[in-house]
Formats: sequence, structure tokens, C-alpha cells
Amino acid sequence: MPISITEVDGGACACIDLAALRHNLGVVHERAPGRRVMAVIKSQAYGHGMLPVAQALQERVDAFALARIDEAVSLRKAGIDVPLVVLEGPLTADDLGLARRYALTLVIHDLHQLALLQGDMSSGALDCWIKFDTGMHRLGFDPAQAGWLLGQFRALPWLRLAGLMTHLANADDIADATTETQLSRMRLVLPGCGLARSIANSAGILAWPDSHADWVRPGLMLYGASPLIGRDADALDLRSVMTLSVPLLAVHRVSCGEPVGYGGTWRAPEDLSLGVVGIGYGDGYPRHIRRVAKVLLRGHRLPVVGRVSMDMLTVDLRGLPEARVGDRVTLWGDGLPVDEVARWADTIPYTLFCGVTARVTRDYGG
Ligand SMILES: *Cc1c(COP(=O)(O)O)cnc(C)c1O
Repeated sequence: MPISITEVDGGACACIDLAALRHNLGVVHERAPGRRVMAVIKSQAYGHGMLPVAQALQERVDAFALARIDEAVSLRKAGIDVPLVVLEGPLTADDLGLARRYALTLVIHDLHQLALLQGDMSSGALDCWIKFDTGMHRLGFDPAQAGWLLGQFRALPWLRLAGLMTHLANADDIADATTETQLSRMRLVLPGCGLARSIANSAGILAWPDSHADWVRPGLMLYGASPLIGRDADALDLRSVMTLSVPLLAVHRVSCGEPVGYGGTWRAPEDLSLGVVGIGYGDGYPRHIRRVAKVLLRGHRLPVVGRVSMDMLTVDLRGLPEARVGDRVTLWGDGLPVDEVARWADTIPYTLFCGVTARVTRDYGG
């Protein structure tokens, strides 16, 4: 059958459904009613595009969290005017200047940062969270120093304390006792001091109501993937935000016994139709995906066969002989949960989202 060129639309596309994003924020509000929400949009909103995501959510959240100062500065410059919390805080005195200039809120988690603040001569107002390490041993002060620290912070009259924060290490596993340990350690940090508290990431919001405190910090769940081991996004009422798709580049016949792709790691078990899909690890599709991996085409799940290369991968079309060049193939998203693809790749949805490279067009709808 001849194919008209106009039928074939575009290349690799990550379609971002902003209505699904807002729905997922609604799930946060439902699960943690009355709590303030610091939506985590670091690392380009987990690959979804930081600015469009911020614009879609800004009226419905109390703050955004970023990892780095430059992420927050770029959002501010783009006109986002809700509080922006920098989770890694300042590293240099220049960072303090940027934080004041762009009215950023800094998370202070280390004595080096305290010293920066104490050595600061400008005395302009600055908003800060204090972060404690309750067991993850990544960032945060030792809770044993809490009383002394609070005195140090309160001695800086221009510093405005936004609250106390900690981060959960194992909240994704509802059977893991670490979370209870972390929660009880956090309870002992400055009880009755009157400052707001923030503990819960997405997994905390969904599985650990005792972690909700005053502010919740959802990341992954906003994007519609499940943050809990063994629980589907569907069952949590989360909707997929990113659908990664690309047109079929070529369809051809391969004879029984012929190898396909680099290294010839797969051979056709019989004469069959092979589809070549225009996406590869250069776009962020994982090269190390296991043999059980599938893509979605016209509602059918088709197996990925042979090695994933930089710009292409190949699929066995025996389940859908009518497939044509130009048909859009879904790698994950609507109809093919990213959680499932992550399992096939022995990873987590976070890395798949963050790994979608710049050459993939982001297309916003909803
Ligand atoms: C990334 C991050 C979050 C969000 O975590 P999710 O698991 O994506 O919900 C919350 N808090 C901190 C400190 C983070 O670094």
C-alpha cells in the first residue's frame, strides 16, 4: 500500500497532559487534606518541563521545590511568583545574594551554610527552612544539635524561619520500619517550637499519614507514576502525565533465523514482519531493557526485539501485521504505565522521566 508523506507526523514526542497533572495534584489534596503543598519540580519537573509545569500548577500550590539555585532563578526570571524553595540550599555567598535578589527560600542543612549566613553582612531578609537528618544520612543537621541551632538562627534577626524539614529514605516500602523511626526522631526535634514541619514525599503522602505534618512535598505522584513498591498508579488514582511516542520508521520482512540489530542478539523464530521505531537510548529509552519489554501500537502490546540502539529500536510485528510506517508507537504513558516499563528496565520511573533527552519534543495539552 502506498503511503502518503503527510500521514507521518513528526518525530519522538513527549506529550504532557496538564489536565492529568492537575488531577494528580488533586489526589495530593485529597490524601493530605488541609496541608500546604510544596510541589517538587526539580530536574525539569522530572523531565516534563519545569516552566510549563510550574505555570500549570502555580495557582494551586503553596510553593515549588527545586534542587538548585539556578533552577529557582530561571523560574523566577520567567515570572513564577509563588515561593521557590531550594532544597540543596546555598553553597557560596553569591548564592545568598541570588536568593535575596530573586526572593528564594533556602534549605539550610549544614554548618557550612550556617557559617555563610553568620558571615553575611547584607542583613536583607531571607527565608530559610532548617533540614534535619532523621536517618537518611544524606543532607541535614543532627537532631541532637536542634536546640543550639535554633538559637544560632534566631540570633540572625533578618533571617525568617519557614520551618523544619526532613526527608524519608524508605517510604516507598510500606513494610519498612525505617519510616516510623524517622517519624519518631522528627517528633523529638524542637517539640512545641511553633515552627511548621515538612516530612512527606509522594510515598509519605500516599502511605504514611503520620508524615503529613504541615507541608507535603509531592514529586513523582504529580507526574502520575506510583511511588510505592507493589502498588499501581491506577490503583492510587494517579493519571499518566507524559506519553512518550514516536512514529514507526520502517516495516519490513525478516526471514526465519536472521539476526536483528547490533550483535544479532535476537533471531527471527520464523518469517515475520519487523517494525523499526525511531527512538533509542539517545532519546532516553533504556538500552538495558529486558527481553520482556513491550511497546504499544494501535492498542496492541508488541515485543521489543534485538538491542536498543541510539536512535532506533525494533519490534516484532507478528501481533499486528497491519502496522504501517507512520503509526505512532507509545513507549510509555497512556495505555502503557511507566512503572511497568521501569520494571522491565530494572529501574524506577524517576530515571526514565529524567532521562528523556532534549531532542525529544515536549508537547503540552490539557
Ligand atoms: C525529590 C524530593 C522530594 C519529592 O520526592 P518524590 O519521591 O518524587 O515525591 C521531596 N523532598 C525532597 C527533599 C526531595 O529531594
